[in-house]
Order: sequence, then C-alpha cells, then structure tokens
Amino acid sequence: MRPRRLVVPDPLQPKQVPAGTEAVVVGGGIAGVSAAVVLAERGVAVTLLEATGHLGGRLGAWPERLPDGAEQIIEHGFHAFFRHYYTWRAILRRADPALSFLAPVKSYPVISAEWPAEDLSGLPAAPPLNLLALALRSKSLTRRELLRADADTGRALLAYDRATTYAEFDDVDAAAFLDGFGMTARSRSMLFEAFARSFFCNQGQLSAAELIAMFHYYFLGNPEGIGFDVPSTDYATAIWDPLHRHLDRHGADVQMSTGCVSVEPNGHGWRVTTTAGTIDTRHVVMALDPGALKDVVGRSPGTAAAAPLLAQACEKLTVAPPFAVSRIWYDRDVAADRAPFSAVSGQPTLDSIAVYSRLEEPSVDWARATGGSIVELHSYSCQIPDAAAAAAALRKELAALWPETATARIVHTHDRLEATAPAFPPGSAGTRPTVRTDARGLRVAGDYVDTPYLSGLMERSAMSGVLAANDVLAELGAAAEPILGVPQRGLLAGVPQFGAKARASG
Ligand SMILES: Cc1cc2nc3c(=O)[nH]c(=O)nc-3n(C[C@H](O)[C@H](O)[C@H](O)COP(=O)(O)OP(=O)(O)OC[C@H]3O[C@@H](n4cnc5c(N)ncnc54)[C@H](O)[C@@H]3O)c2cc1C
Repeated sequence: MRPRRLVVPDPLQPKQVPAGTEAVVVGGGIAGVSAAVVLAERGVAVTLLEATGHLGGRLGAWPERLPDGAEQIIEHGFHAFFRHYYTWRAILRRADPALSFLAPVKSYPVISAEWPAEDLSGLPAAPPLNLLALALRSKSLTRRELLRADADTGRALLAYDRATTYAEFDDVDAAAFLDGFGMTARSRSMLFEAFARSFFCNQGQLSAAELIAMFHYYFLGNPEGIGFDVPSTDYATAIWDPLHRHLDRHGADVQMSTGCVSVEPNGHGWRVTTTAGTIDTRHVVMALDPGALKDVVGRSPGTAAAAPLLAQACEKLTVAPPFAVSRIWYDRDVAADRAPFSAVSGQPTLDSIAVYSRLEEPSVDWARATGGSIVELHSYSCQIPDAAAAAAALRKELAALWPETATARIVHTHDRLEATAPAFPPGSAGTRPTVRTDARGLRVAGDYVDTPYLSGLMERSAMSGVLAANDVLAELGAAAEPILGVPQRGLLAGVPQFGAKARASG
C-alpha cells in the first residue's frame, strides 16, 4: 500500500499569486496556520487573527510556573502524530525539514483493570495482513470469535467507501453497529472502546459510518501502519514558535489576542470586525473550533443571508461533550514498566495516560532534577461537568490501575475541562460545513469540515486548511498545493459479493 496523490498541482500554472492579493485567516490552530502558511508562501498578504495569546488552538502550549519556581511549557494535551498525517507533516516540515523533533513511541498498549493489555504497535500496514496479525496476536480476540463474527459487519469495516458507507451506516450509532458484530465484551472493550472514544464521543453518540471511516483511515487503509510519533520537546518550541517565525519571514501579519467578532459581506469582499478594529478583504478562511464558528456566524446576519447553506450547517453543527485533561507532577516516578503512552479501556472517566517524564525533554529534565514524574490523564468525553471533580475522578481511576500513584505526593496539578471538539452524531453526514461555502470568498477549515478526502483529527484540520488555501489559489489562477492521502476506499469496496449489506441482500 502506498499514499495516494489526491491533489496534483498543474505544472503550467504559476506558483505565485498576483501582487497585492490579501487574505484574512481567522483562528490560529492547525487549520488556520496551515492555510496561512500556504497562502503566505505563495505571495498572499495574510493577516492571521488568533483570539488567545498563543498559536496552536487545541494543540497550543503556554508557560506554567511550578511551586518550586521552575517554569515549564505545558500543552493543551498529549497528541499522537501518526505517520500518515501527510498534509500536517508537510506543514511541520516548514518548522523542521527533517521532522527531527518527532520520535517514535515504541509500544502502544490498551490497558484495563479487568483484562490483560493489548499492544497495537508493530502490526503490518496492509489489510488484510494487519487484521490477521491482530487476530493472531490479540489476547482478547480469539480466532473462534473472529470466525463467528457477523460477516456483514466485518465486510462493512473492510469495504469503506465514502458514498456507500455513509448512505448505509450514518443513521446507525457505533454502539449498535458493534453490537451487530457479536464480539465478546472483552474484545469490544479492548479493541474498539478506546479507539471510538479517541473521537471525543461515546459509542452511542458516534455515527457508525464515522467509526468505519476512521477504522479505515487509522488502521485498515493506513499505508504507514498504526504506529505514531510524539514531539521530543514541548509544542511551543517544536512547532508553534518556528511556524510563527516562518509566517513572519513570508510577510504574514500574525495578530495574537485579537478575536474575530463578525465577518460580513462588503461589496465584492468581506469586512472582518475584530476586537481591535476592522479589516476589508476579498478572501477569508474561517478556521475556528465548531462552537466559535457558530458564534461568529451567529453574530454576522449579513453572512447568514449571503450564505444560507453555511448558516444552516452551523445550526446543525454539534460540539462534543467536554474533554478533561489533568497534568500531575508527582514527587516520585511511576513503576519502571509503565509504557510512555497507554490507552485505557473500561474506566468511566480515564481514557489515556501519558508519562510526559518519559516522552518529552523538558519533563525528563524536571524528573531527573527532582526525582519526580509528570503524568497526564485524559478523558475524551467527560460526563463530569467540573474540572476539579473530573481531575479527582481521573486520579482515582489511575490509582486503581497504577497503585504506586495512590501514595505518591502531588507537587502540582494543572486541570482543564473544555468543550471545543466536534461531535459526529448519527445522521450528521452531509450536514457539516464544507471548505468552499455558498458565499464566494468565504472558506471554512477545521477538524469537523466535510472534505472530499478521508482524514481525521489533526490531519483533517491541516488538510481542510490547505484545501481552503487551494480554493483561494484556484480563484487567482495559481497552482494548488499538493495533497497526499490514504487509499480512499477499503480493500473490499465495490466487490459485489462483499459490498454493503443492503446491496448484497437486494
Ligand atoms: C486533549 C486532546 C487530545 C488530542 N489528541 C489528539 C491526537 O492524539 N491526535 C490527533 O490527531 N488529534 C488529537 N486531538 C485533536 C486535535 O487537537 C484537533 O483535531 C486539532 O488540534 C484541531 O485544530 P483546528 O485548527 O481545527 O481547531 P482549534 O485547534 O480549535 O483551533 C481554532 C482556533 O481558533 C481560535 N479562535 C476561536 N474563536 C476565535 C475568534 N472569535 N477569533 C479568533 N480566533 C478564535 C481558537 O483560540 C483556536 O486557536 C486532541 C485534542 C485534544 C483536546
């Protein structure tokens, strides 16, 4: 399996845009910065507006003072940088051409209080070998169980196809779809629960079509295999400071702590009202989190009238339940055999554990100097509505899995609860905003945007940002930025006897 060339630039078109072209990008997360980088490199005078004091959005990082006086950069949360994030990695190469700040995470266990761990690392990349290897290696999934599994459900996983998968499975929730598989509680918990929760939803609130798409994207159709890398230093040093300098070098005007209030039609272009003033421009990329996009469009009645389909998509856009992140500085190390990153299954709140003091240089240094450790706990779809209470629940569940943390002294904690992730509920396919809106000159980018090509999470943000930039370039007659992706269909897609259940039965 190899990556596919999804967007190929026309060699006859110029790379640079005509002089004097301007654009405003709203939102300085992965989507906004990806759009701004491509536009600025092509000669567009870009203004990038970011409401907070740092770039990065949900991948952002900022300094935190510890009780011992030491300053550390802390992040919004641990992130796995998968190797098939081709667009995002291409943007990151502007910060570090060799991507030398990324280091592989060798093992990737799913752990549980009830069952032995599963390790998903090191599986072959191509289907069906990866599925067979998983079945042979898995302690949860027995070969007998695999043979008895519902054949139609198994085929649906192997036959991902954008049109038929969404047509057939978008109205079904992921829990009902997995019920149909007939797996034991153990296999389901160890192989699917943690995976489904990584998309910030419980199985009952996630579209089965989205689960099938993501299973294809991350596992079955992933030419690079399911392994991932993590930055060896904090995200500000590794990613955002160098990308900010890259934007400066290409003449972009990066305005921090400048929120967008509204975006309204203005003649042949747009008037962007910010907390600092107004900017008139022909091209706008709205690269906001889903709640913020709804708010800005809600405050822009002229845009709602000029782009009724965008307004309708914003009304339907749903924000996922909050995610909780608790970073804990302990006075001692966790047990030597703890993996640097573990997905957790079967706990009501805890979904993952990252031992930062085994992953990231500044945390390694702090641990070495103090004899302590730094552990970060995530709940991707948290039922507890308060950051402190959620953090207490996360720590209690950690202590049940890793008893040494129950007696360790907590030196410092940083706890957050935030609802900025998109939801993909059953029935939502076809209702999400697309990159190109029904008002010329206004584009949308972000990890909830309906793109023509399959991708997920950080890569969907980067890909939608580059697609938004490409839409601006297309209007100006400039060549597109190339985009690579995974094979867009599953191994069995389109094979009549293996097609979707509805087609097979009639
Ligand atoms: C805890 C956690 C763990 C995660 N783990 C992973 C992982 O392992 N792998 C993975 O691929 N993905 C992961 N993700 C998802 C990933 O972080 C997101 O998909 C991605 O960062 C979204 O980027 P974005 O640019 O689309 O949106 P955002 O990052 O939300 O960016 C939107 C930006 O808009 C700004 N903004 C909002 N309102 C305004 C306004 N009015 N004016 C101007 N600016 C505004 C915000 O401040 C923000 O900077 C994780 C997310 C979280 C929270």
